[in-house]
Amino acid sequence: MVSNDSDDSAGSDNSAGSDDSAGSHDPDDSAGAVGAVGVTQVVNPATGLVVATVPQTTAAEAEAAIDRAARAYGSWREVAPGDRARLLRRFAAVVDAHVEELAELEVRNSGHTIGNARWEAGNVRDVLDYYAGAPERLTGRQIPVPGGLNVTFHEPLGVVGVIVPWNFPMPIAGWGFAPALAAGNTVVLKPAELTPLTAIRLGELALEAGLPPDVLTVLPGRGSVVGEAFVAHPAVRKICFTGSTEVGTRIMAGCAAQVKRLTLELGGKSANLVFADADLARAAATAPYAVFDNAGQDCCARSRILVQRPVYDRFLELLEPAVQAFRVEDPALETAEMGPLISAGHRKSVSSYLDGAEVAFTGSCPEGPGFWHAPTVLLARSPAERHWREEIFGPVVSVLPFDDEAEAVALANDTEYGLSGSIWTQDVGRAIRVARGVESGNLSVNSHSSVRYWTPFGGMKRSGLGRELGPDALHAFTDVKNVFLATDA
Ligand code: NAD
Repeated sequence: MVSNDSDDSAGSDNSAGSDDSAGSHDPDDSAGAVGAVGVTQVVNPATGLVVATVPQTTAAEAEAAIDRAARAYGSWREVAPGDRARLLRRFAAVVDAHVEELAELEVRNSGHTIGNARWEAGNVRDVLDYYAGAPERLTGRQIPVPGGLNVTFHEPLGVVGVIVPWNFPMPIAGWGFAPALAAGNTVVLKPAELTPLTAIRLGELALEAGLPPDVLTVLPGRGSVVGEAFVAHPAVRKICFTGSTEVGTRIMAGCAAQVKRLTLELGGKSANLVFADADLARAAATAPYAVFDNAGQDCCARSRILVQRPVYDRFLELLEPAVQAFRVEDPALETAEMGPLISAGHRKSVSSYLDGAEVAFTGSCPEGPGFWHAPTVLLARSPAERHWREEIFGPVVSVLPFDDEAEAVALANDTEYGLSGSIWTQDVGRAIRVARGVESGNLSVNSHSSVRYWTPFGGMKRSGLGRELGPDALHAFTDVKNVFLATDA
C-alpha cells in the first residue's frame, strides 16, 4: 500500500505545495500535502523531498473499516484477560525489536532527531508493556447493600477512534491504542496526513505480534474525511483526540449528538517560572531544551519564560550561550538536538510571530534545503503581545519579568491554556503554593519533565478534557456497570 521513495528519487520539492499547511493549525491538515487526489506524498522535512506515497482512506473505506472493527470487538472483548495481556506483551516485544527501524522512519517522515525518535518508539513499547498489566487487574467493586449482592464491572466501550497529530506520531498513537486495547476495545487510528508512516508500520507490527485482524486498524487520510467518519459513525463509542484546540472543539460538538465519550489533548502555552532564589545556572541551561526540543512542536513547550526582576538580566546572560550552543542540524546525526519544522507552511507561520517583535538573540540553523528555523528568544514588552499569547508551536520563546509570587501566578494563568509548566525555586513552600496556584494539568519543580507513562497526563481549561497515561486513562476506556443480585427471594 505504501510505496517508499528514496530521498533522491521522485524528489519533487514540497516547499511550494506545503506553504499553507498544518502550521497555521488549519482544521484540515491535508493542505500541507502534495500529490494527486486520494494520495499523500510524504515529505522529509530535513530535505523537502518526497520519501513515500500513501493512499488516503476514503469515507466509504473508513466506514467499512469501522464496521469490521465493531465485529472484531465482539470476540476481542471475550478474549481471556491473561491472553489479552500476553498479546499486548508480545506486541511490545515486537515493537522493541523494531525500535531502530521505527526511529529511522520517524526521522525521515517527521524530522525528529534520531535520539528523540528512539525514545518515542521505546515509549510505545513501554506503554504497551505497562497496559499489558491491566486486563487481569481491571476489577470492579462489591458495594454492601441490603437484600442482595451489588457489584460493578468495568465494561469496554466498543470501537475507539484515535486521532493523532503530526508532532508526536508514535507516542500519541500508543497512548490511545494501548489502554483502549487492554480494556477490551477495538481501535481505528488516524495518523496526521503529514506523518502517517510510523503509525502504518505499528499497525503491521500489531498483526505480526498476533493481534487478530481488525482489532487495531490504521487508516491514513484527511481529517475532514477519516476523522469525521469516526465522529459520525455510531459504532465508534469514544474519540481519543490529540491536536489543536480549534479542531478539538469541533470534534466535541460533533460527539455531542451521540453523547460519544471523548478525551481531548489540545494546545498549550506553558510557563517556565524562574524565581530569584532558583539555581539560576541550571534553570538557564535547561530552558532551551524545555522549548526547542522537537523544534518547539511540543504541546508541553515552556514557551513563556517568566523571570523575577532581580535576576532577569543575569538569567538572559546565562540563557544566551545555552541557546547558541543548541545543536540544530541533520536530525539523523547522533549529535543533533533539534531538527527542522514539519513543513514550509509551518515555518512561515512560526516566522510570522517575529514580525514587529523584539528579538533578544537567536541560535543558528542550516540554510536549507528543508524547513529550518533558528531557536529564537523574544523579549515580551507586554503580556498583550501576540507571541506571548498564542501557541507558536516552533522554536520561539518569549521572556517577561515579574515582581512577586502573586504576579507570577497571575501571569502564568493569564492564558486560555493549562497544559504544563515549570517552577524554579529553592523554597519548598513556594514551590507547593505556586504549583497549587497555576492552572495546569502537569507541573514540574526544578525540572522540565512532563511525561511518564505511569502518571496521568492532560490539560486544564482549553488544553483538554480527561487524562491519558497512568491508571486514570485505563478507566476512561470503560463504562462502569452496576449489577444488583437479590438474595432474599
Ligand atoms: P490538528 O488539530 O490540525 O490535527 C490533529 C488531527 O486531527 C490530525 O490527524 C488531523 O487530520 C485531524 N483532523 C483535522 N480536522 C479534523 C476533523 N474535522 N475531524 C476529525 N479529525 C480532524 O493538529 P496538528 O496541527 O496535527 O497538531 C498540533 C496541535 O496538537 C497543537 O495545537 C498541539 O498543542 C496539539 N497537541 C496536543 C498534545 C496534548 O497532549 N495536549 C500533544 C501533541 C499535540
